[in-house]
Amino acid sequence: MRTDQHPLPLGSANCQYSLSSFHYGVPGARKAYLQASLHADELPGMLVLHHLRELLEQAEAEGRLQGEIVLVPVANPIGLGQTFMHDQMGRFDFASGVNFNRGFPDLSQQLIVLLADALGDDAQRNIRLIRAGLRQLLDAAECRTPLDGMRIELMRLAHDADIVLDLHCDCEAVMHIYTQSDHVAEAERLGCYLGARVILVADAVGGACFDEMLFKPWLRLRAHYGAQFPVPQSCFASTVELRGEQDVSDQLAGADALGIYHYLCGAGMIVGAATPPPAAACAPTPLSGSATAYAGESGVISYLAEPGDMLQAGDLICSIVDPLSGHAYPVTSPIDGVMYSRVIFRYATRGMELAKIAGKIERRSGNLLGP
Ligand SMILES: [Zn+2]
Repeated sequence: MRTDQHPLPLGSANCQYSLSSFHYGVPGARKAYLQASLHADELPGMLVLHHLRELLEQAEAEGRLQGEIVLVPVANPIGLGQTFMHDQMGRFDFASGVNFNRGFPDLSQQLIVLLADALGDDAQRNIRLIRAGLRQLLDAAECRTPLDGMRIELMRLAHDADIVLDLHCDCEAVMHIYTQSDHVAEAERLGCYLGARVILVADAVGGACFDEMLFKPWLRLRAHYGAQFPVPQSCFASTVELRGEQDVSDQLAGADALGIYHYLCGAGMIVGAATPPPAAACAPTPLSGSATAYAGESGVISYLAEPGDMLQAGDLICSIVDPLSGHAYPVTSPIDGVMYSRVIFRYATRGMELAKIAGKIERRSGNLLGP
């Protein structure tokens, strides 16, 4: 195992952040990249990678690593240092107000131009050229702020990986996974090992999330050059939501790390008997089929539905109790589907998002994620 340090651009005098990456296995081999806590206060993934490191160190000591596996357990040191009145706040950058998992650079168009005369009939050569092109563009990217530098460095670490898992969590939630349509089967296999209750599929997510900006260039290149040259989708980049913010324990993280380990064995990264994946706990559904339940009134939230509940349209999710009028307002599910997350707050203001339900029928377009 090799540890690398990646200093970020200096933001202020004597105030410099850096990323630490842990490199296992065979450099240049088939590669998996896993990072945790890009939203810095989403901590389950940090503990999962802690447990995964123990498993990888053992596999490495036994000479069983045949892929390259890179871990970044603290993907957002900037956000991890943000505390406001005793609350850790790692979703939005205090300096700019932007979401840490939005605004990653879209290199698609530049890559199309860069590779105009380079691609040919050899698919493997094209993959190498595309990855080299991505690297060239990332090395030349402008970094005005430490946040720019962090985004670029994370993409530089991940751009040539075959598998990218970005470990997040939701507020209160069941395990769920985001994937792109070329890799639904891969996401299903991962989902079986992790016990995913929902798999959300979208090619155009919107918002320029980390995973999207890694798989999108391949889609755009295929759309542009696919009729002339083979452009295989060579980056399975997925956001994994490891349940809710409070679901942080050695028991859960140890089991999730083992699930990921077995998934990586099955993906050929580690030599060993890959345990067959458990039965799937869900079927994939379109991200555009996900619906949000909103608070129509303000008041105290009293939930009736739990994350993971299968709801019919009109089923009660919660009551909102107005403590002054004494009225209780029902909030119901707008669609049939699995309620996969709900907010952690227990006081609603009018219009606030309360819960998300994964439905089978596409119903939205444009930016499919919230702020
Ligand atoms: Zn997140």
